[in-house]
Amino acid sequence: MSGNGIYDLVIIGGGPGGLTAGIYAMRAALKTALIEMGVPGGQMNNSGSVENWPGDEFISGGDLALKFSQHAQSYGLDMITQEVVEVEPGLDFHTVKLANGDRLSTHAIILATGGSPRKLNIPGEEEHYGKGVSYCAVCDGFFFRDKTVVVVGGGDTAAEESLYLAKLVKQLYLVHRRDALRAGALLQQRVKAECKIEILWNSVLTEIRADAQGVSAVQLQNTQNGKKSELAADGVFVFIGFEPNNKLVPAGTKMNADGYVVTDEKCETNVPGIFVIGDLREKYFRQIVISASDGATAALAAAHYVETRKAADVCELPQALQTEAP
Ligand code: NAP
Repeated sequence: MSGNGIYDLVIIGGGPGGLTAGIYAMRAALKTALIEMGVPGGQMNNSGSVENWPGDEFISGGDLALKFSQHAQSYGLDMITQEVVEVEPGLDFHTVKLANGDRLSTHAIILATGGSPRKLNIPGEEEHYGKGVSYCAVCDGFFFRDKTVVVVGGGDTAAEESLYLAKLVKQLYLVHRRDALRAGALLQQRVKAECKIEILWNSVLTEIRADAQGVSAVQLQNTQNGKKSELAADGVFVFIGFEPNNKLVPAGTKMNADGYVVTDEKCETNVPGIFVIGDLREKYFRQIVISASDGATAALAAAHYVETRKAADVCELPQALQTEAP
């Protein structure tokens, strides 16, 4: 469904935070639209396995995304597949402008646009994206069955995705710039125990090379002694964190130096009625369960905000109109 309209709440972004906000908002009887330009589920769709979503010891990211989406839709949430081009704060209503020209007026907005994979910005990365360079093991791992791949990164994502890829590939080199992984202890143990994974410590990629068939090798540099070497590889997977998708954050909204939005404990920004949740919000940890928690908090806080606004509007009506109301 799509179109111009007046809403109590517009949620921008359909990841775990946005979909949870949708569930809570519909249960709070808010007239709500959720706008997502891609497949609902956000980064969950790129995760081969999720093992820390309470209640599910193991579930694929895609299946979990589908469950979130179906749950939200079961309450009749208005899900609009469109790109949002601008969020314009207003005194009475905020405005959400869509790429198709539609404009939605709303009392409250929850921004849940998450982040995008961080790039290495080295020669060969952009040129060979989709031809051996990837940011998604679940999407592209299949193409590297029985081949040799390089994974870059040392966090939870690099560790999880390496374990996923190790089931498919012949050999995996995990290249990390330091001498210790950032990933959680359990993931570290599993990565180190996987015989197909060799960790190349204190190393960075400086170039990705290709031949007519696609990626053929990477150039490495040792961060301790500066020594360069070449490693043959059929694919390169980059998991070095992500950047917040903050282009829709209205001017004047408080952000930290890294571009994450600063909110209060209700997930509300310094602009009244504009809430920010999930990976776009400044926080200590970034997890599905934490984004979902943000979504619940923001939706409940938005319900309170909308109720207060509507009550104030009624109080501002002339006395005669107030008594005429049915
Ligand atoms: P991250 O925790 O920020 O880790 C990024 C890794 O990439 C770090 O090891 C970092 O090295 C390295 N790195 C950053 N820039 C680099 C560069 N230019 N060149 C080479 N290496 C670079 O990112 P993440 O692993 O994507 O995780 C993001 C958040 O999501 C984390 O809070 C994580 O816990 C969470 N997460 C949770 C789960 C889960 O719960 N199942 C799964 C995935 C992610 P340094 O260590 O030297 O900084």
